[in-house]
Amino acid sequence: MGTSAQAGNQAATEALVSLAEAVGRQERGFRFTRPALPPLGEVVRLYEQAYKDGLLTNSNLVARLEGAARERLGVRHAVAVSSCTSGLLLTLKALGVRGRVILPSFTFFATGLAVLWNGLRPVFADCLESTWNLDPEDAGRRIDGGTGALIGVHLYGNPCQVEALERLAARTGLKLVFDGAHALGSLYQGKPLGGFGDAEVFSLSPTKLLVAGEGGLVATNDSTLARLIRLGRNYGDGGDYDPELPGLNARMSEFHAALALEGWELLEEKVRRHNQIAAHYDRLLQAQPGLSLQQVRRGDRSSFKDYSVLVDPAVYAGGRDLVGSRLLGCGIETKRYFHPPLHRQKIFREYFDPQGDALPVTERVSSRVLSLPIYATLADEVVERIAEAIAELGKTTVVVG
Ligand SMILES: *Cc1c(COP(=O)(O)O)cnc(C)c1O
Repeated sequence: MGTSAQAGNQAATEALVSLAEAVGRQERGFRFTRPALPPLGEVVRLYEQAYKDGLLTNSNLVARLEGAARERLGVRHAVAVSSCTSGLLLTLKALGVRGRVILPSFTFFATGLAVLWNGLRPVFADCLESTWNLDPEDAGRRIDGGTGALIGVHLYGNPCQVEALERLAARTGLKLVFDGAHALGSLYQGKPLGGFGDAEVFSLSPTKLLVAGEGGLVATNDSTLARLIRLGRNYGDGGDYDPELPGLNARMSEFHAALALEGWELLEEKVRRHNQIAAHYDRLLQAQPGLSLQQVRRGDRSSFKDYSVLVDPAVYAGGRDLVGSRLLGCGIETKRYFHPPLHRQKIFREYFDPQGDALPVTERVSSRVLSLPIYATLADEVVERIAEAIAELGKTTVVVG
């Protein structure tokens, strides 16, 4: 081992020690993410009337939440449901999608579960090098006569190529749905997501930016679709006990609506803080050899529900996993959002033909992706020490694990 390698290892060790110290200075235990919740007293005050009236589900507070969603997203209809997964499932059902559905493999598996639960066949398309979102051209190449729909995912809140996908769907007569689980608070060319495609579906679960405890929102400008999803969340029944479609119990409870209504006041501030932290990480890491960052297109705003980097194993001996384990040793939890990609998961593998449809960008991105801590109360000092430790680990020339 040469002297410069020794100096590199020495610097990496020092950076890790100072990261561990910075983590130790944080008052409370450290986690990957921490929901910033509204004051409980406010939530209870809002919920109290519903409770007294014995209206526990799908009532006034849910209607108020839907009104707030319509206004803030600038859409004609918003339907609150029990989760983003149930919302996606009902959207595909209500749109009457048949056959094959093209979706990215680089996403959370719930996107694909909604396809499977409808008895549809997933076709995985590649993602872009820059944004890591669905590549419209690759999706286009996979369309054939048996294709029924496209699903785009706004990954970590980064708006996907919505207009290119809308043009593709219009040209080919396909339905277009966006999985916006991460994307409340995101802007596409200055405009909130929600009104693109046939529908956009958001998640309100605890790891997302607007938290209902559990919940989802389906946003659409299509009145027929909105009506069917309203029926669909209630078993498909419109009141005559003769369901119009095979629905679910996917209603949202009043308590969850109260939590989301209060939480909505905090959303803009949270998204701003997530953007600050992401810009801070970007500044500290962008010049670092062996790392690549996700690009947000000019004019767009990501919610940065998550912040991830790609770690090149040719520069970082031991790759992404070793960086993750060194950070964990300092009390910093990281994630691999999303690894393995869907086409390598047990329940989806059979739909992927390794001879035919290669997904080279997805393979590379998912094998290198490392998601770093990001949440509103994450201290700048910790962000700086994390970035410093990652930079130093990239300069070591031997495996230090
Ligand atoms: C979290 C998530 C979902 C599922 O949301 P739920 O509300 O938990 O059902 C769907 N898609 C993506 C991309 C997600 O991250």
